[in-house]
Amino acid sequence: MGKTLVVGAGGVSHAAVHKMAMNADIFTEITLASRTKSKCDAIAASVLARTGVQIATAALDAMDISATVALIRQTNADLLVNLALPYQDLVLMEACLQAGCHYLDTANYEPEDEAKFEYHWQWAYQEKFQKAGLTAILGSGFDPGVTSVFATWLKKHKLSGIRQIDILDCNGGDNGQAFATNFNPEINLREVLADARHWEHGDWYVTPAMTHKVAYDFPEVGEKNMYLMYHEELESLSTHFPEIERARFWMTFGDAYIMHATVLQNVGMTRIDPVMHDGREIIPIQFLKTLLPDPGDLGAKTTGKTCIGDIATGPAQDGSGEKTFYIYNICDHEVCFAEVGSQAVSYTTGVPAMIGAAQVLKGNWIQPGVWNMEQLDPDDFMDMLNAHGLPWQVHELSEPVTF
Ligand code: NDP
Repeated sequence: MGKTLVVGAGGVSHAAVHKMAMNADIFTEITLASRTKSKCDAIAASVLARTGVQIATAALDAMDISATVALIRQTNADLLVNLALPYQDLVLMEACLQAGCHYLDTANYEPEDEAKFEYHWQWAYQEKFQKAGLTAILGSGFDPGVTSVFATWLKKHKLSGIRQIDILDCNGGDNGQAFATNFNPEINLREVLADARHWEHGDWYVTPAMTHKVAYDFPEVGEKNMYLMYHEELESLSTHFPEIERARFWMTFGDAYIMHATVLQNVGMTRIDPVMHDGREIIPIQFLKTLLPDPGDLGAKTTGKTCIGDIATGPAQDGSGEKTFYIYNICDHEVCFAEVGSQAVSYTTGVPAMIGAAQVLKGNWIQPGVWNMEQLDPDDFMDMLNAHGLPWQVHELSEPVTF
């Protein structure tokens, strides 16, 4: 159905490109480009061995807009899938506009020198994409991504509006490491150590990071401590579903993770500003990333399951009063590794990136402009989750959340 250029060859890309190759009727030609070409070649070799599909590879520094424009033209790509880092979002959107190519990513833009997660930089491209007749899809991972599609599906099929929503992200996996992050360590630590923020009655409430803790009994995982955090879909959901009175995001962390993250922060190792070391400038969090395990390499060592989903409350569509639904996916690290050689966090991000890209290539989500996932029709995306490794369940709860 279409030609795809994937940019970035890390953990998420590994899972997404394998799943694209497994759907060769939709992804008719795939090119994988990244800063380090050998990483693209390693993924291409694994894809060939597992699926028999040949993909092209290229070296690309995505910060060089003209180089990306040239590669889009050379590959004749219909869609660029950005699986590099949030720092590259705006330059890749710019390249898509110049070359006439649709765009999709999994995380919102962040300036490198400030841990600030806001959509306004990308939303500012709305008119440019509309005028160019091009589609840009923002945040097609699991969270953001599937969690927003879950909310839209509930609004389409169960509730006439969402009064309150809690997004619960549980990784019940164990990778045997003293300290490792679920995805890119630099991006992950910037997110986790930022102040917690939630939306309530038209305002943002800010609390210090990792201070509001609740124990929750997750299906198939068991009881875990989850912490209130800020996450980017809170901004887009509260904007696009203005009836939401309260929106919160929770993520589980073990005590060892919290202890390591706190110590690293206290000693300055998570700083994102340059410091002088031995006569040269270094950025501590980037040096820390070099020392920490690459999450993409932890697949073979990781056991256990993830459980990610939404608990949403609102008026039932059938007029039977207020109802609460819990909609979630359970994913097993070892099953993911057996299928594509990725742990479940890369898999639960890479598969929705493939499915979002498929929605563009199938034409379901072609709509000139810049869109968050909750603004698009959820039905085919939800069917594809069930068919491609991320089956979901929805259960009615007897009462709204009490935490
Ligand atoms: P990795 O660090 O494993 O991979 C990032 C890749 O991008 C690397 O191959 C890197 O190249 C490449 N890259 C970085 N800078 C450039 C550049 N200037 N030009 C070209 N390539 C570049 O990250 P992950 O796979 O863990 O994460 C990928 C994305 O997915 C991130 O944006 C992350 O925030 C997002 N994510 C989203 C989730 C969701 O649910 N929505 C969940 C998890 C992650 P090199 O190897 O040479 O450094």
